[in-house]
Amino acid sequence: MNIGILNIQGDVSEHYNFIKKLGKKYNVSPLMVKNNDDLDNICGLIIPGGESTVIYNFLIKNNMYDHIINMNKNGLYIMGTCAGAIILSENTSDERVKGMSLINIKIKRNAYGRQINSFIENINIKDMGNFNAVFIRAPEIEEYKNSELLSEYNNKPVFVRNKNVFALTFHPELTGNPKIHEYFIKQCQE
Ligand code: GLN
Repeated sequence: MNIGILNIQGDVSEHYNFIKKLGKKYNVSPLMVKNNDDLDNICGLIIPGGESTVIYNFLIKNNMYDHIINMNKNGLYIMGTCAGAIILSENTSDERVKGMSLINIKIKRNAYGRQINSFIENINIKDMGNFNAVFIRAPEIEEYKNSELLSEYNNKPVFVRNKNVFALTFHPELTGNPKIHEYFIKQCQE
């Protein structure tokens, strides 16, 4: 079983290495995804954090945007972290990035300020416990509907789920804690 990492820009290798490390235990392999053919060989897709405008433009240019939406509707699991969550959202309030509407969240880009205002905060995640969450030019989920709230920080959702779609506003690949990747792998395998 392969877990795909969308290989456009951002924290690609960090997610790749994480899945590689967990591979033996869960019988999964990471696969770099750069085109629609790669998508046919995976059961879960991670859209990493990075720069959502760059990721968005690449997906449109390479005809991957609608294909990912269709694959998700046909059962593909997707986890979007930070910029990835922006890509999955319903409303970005920014015409440079149109969300895929795969999860009903309204999200605001760069809500905590610039790179220098990045921070690490200990959050509590449902069924997973404490997690050191790294927020880098993070977006804020302003509203969510028809989704399960898995974690919040400062009374704002930071991790929500809609069936086979997971949206996180922080970077789970940067602290060495495998819980979120393990959770995602297990969901993909169910
Ligand atoms: N601010 C970035 C954006 O809007 C997201 C930052 C991140 O993914 N760490 O695309």
